[in-house]
Amino acid sequence: MSLKKRTANLKPANAREHIGKTSQAIYPRRSPRSGSRWRATGSQGPATLRTLHVTLGSDIYVAMKTTTQSFDVRTPSRDAMIDITSKVQAVVSEAGVDDGVAAVYVPHTTAGVTINENADPDVIHDVLAALDHAVPWRQNFYQHGEGNSAAHAKSSMVGCNTSVPIRGGRLSLGTWQGVFFCEFDGPRTRHVVVTVMG
Ligand code: ZN
Repeated sequence: MSLKKRTANLKPANAREHIGKTSQAIYPRRSPRSGSRWRATGSQGPATLRTLHVTLGSDIYVAMKTTTQSFDVRTPSRDAMIDITSKVQAVVSEAGVDDGVAAVYVPHTTAGVTINENADPDVIHDVLAALDHAVPWRQNFYQHGEGNSAAHAKSSMVGCNTSVPIRGGRLSLGTWQGVFFCEFDGPRTRHVVVTVMG
């Protein structure tokens, strides 16, 4: 169990009130068991949420809350990079986490996820072109019978997961950064899984 101390900038009494409101806003809080210092909220809906906090003396500790949501991405062509920053942010906002991390995961072997510039679209064009140059679609030495070995290779080069810090309830990305779903064997419908912890 990971616990975060939450008393740094709050008086204990205020901290307790704040945490109670947070829990209440997400799920109805169960009454603490007699003699127990633990209070737990249940889970409901498509997300998996659990909040625990414990009082030790005047200190209040909050267990890390985890929310997992997924969404679909429809890709338009064989190779594409699609800005999913707003969709990831929507999951973060719904989770109600102010300070933590968002882990973005793509459960595919011919796609990926990465962070890169979302200001000049030429950057995305050039990244895809460079990957295609490095890993041509056809090579005499490919053995995989499905005929999409280049997509598998690009998937491993880019990776199937990334993570972004969360500050103040927002993805703490750089000014020019966005989160991109990377398609290497489209067009098709893909899935993205976002786990928010904080
Ligand atoms: Zn394959």
